[in-house]
Amino acid sequence: MARTIGVTTAEDIATGLVEGHELVGKLRIYEQGAEDEPLLSLPPEGIAQRFANEIQAVGAGQTVDAIGVGLPGIINCGFIEDSPNLRQLKGVHMQDLLRAALRDSGITAPVYVYNDADVLAAGLAATHGHLDRFIRVWTLGHGIGFGVYPRREGVWEGGHVVVSLDPRERYCGCGGVGHLEGIMGQRAMRLRFLDMEPDEVFENAQKRDQRCVEFVKLWHRALAAATANSIHLAGPGKFFISGFNAKHLDLNLLHQYLQEMVKMSPLQSYVFDVVPSSDINGVIGAAVSAGQNAVA
Ligand SMILES: [Zn+2]
Repeated sequence: MARTIGVTTAEDIATGLVEGHELVGKLRIYEQGAEDEPLLSLPPEGIAQRFANEIQAVGAGQTVDAIGVGLPGIINCGFIEDSPNLRQLKGVHMQDLLRAALRDSGITAPVYVYNDADVLAAGLAATHGHLDRFIRVWTLGHGIGFGVYPRREGVWEGGHVVVSLDPRERYCGCGGVGHLEGIMGQRAMRLRFLDMEPDEVFENAQKRDQRCVEFVKLWHRALAAATANSIHLAGPGKFFISGFNAKHLDLNLLHQYLQEMVKMSPLQSYVFDVVPSSDINGVIGAAVSAGQNAVA
């Protein structure tokens, strides 16, 4: 059975050894020491070196068939076309950098770099027995991620689909107007409500604060709109929802809005599955994807 290593960077750097579709042993989480530079301020070579150190620690004494790494951004064959949350990686061939760093550490297994939402989709497909069908995942965190499995040609930046024509909707991290992330992203919510944290906005909506009630409706309507757009382009099916802000979801409200938006009967067989936010699925997905690439 193939032994692979997966790495994700959702909250911290999480690295794990995977056999088949299962994690072997415990996840290794990079502990940011007081002296360490945060990932955000490291140059690309420094980021590659930190990954290589983590991979070496997990792979010590093991024969590994392939290594997969999930990173935020538009990633094409290991080249990072853009990465709004790790801006220094824009235009960097991360896969080549990482291969060089690993070679210096004596690791020659093939390494692949993927979009982090796509590896989460692959991990959810692998752990839910869905490797034979098309699945999508929304991640509701600092930004809004959208991953698909199996990977299809295209860009798939679903967090940046336009869900509002209001020119005042300009809170998206990428600078675009009317984007899903500009309504649902943590950073965007902070910019919109300068006087309260996102969690307080949802709490105050429960207490019927009108401004918060209206926003929570908009927040759900935005996800329904983005999902409806995806259904109208790629068909119905399974949508996983993950990320730390998934706890604020009211699935009944989401269903109600989506039913108003999707009316053609062949498109109505969609299912939502809210899954806990954990690094394990991303790590498994990165590892499984790398294993598939190495065989192909
Ligand atoms: Zn955007």
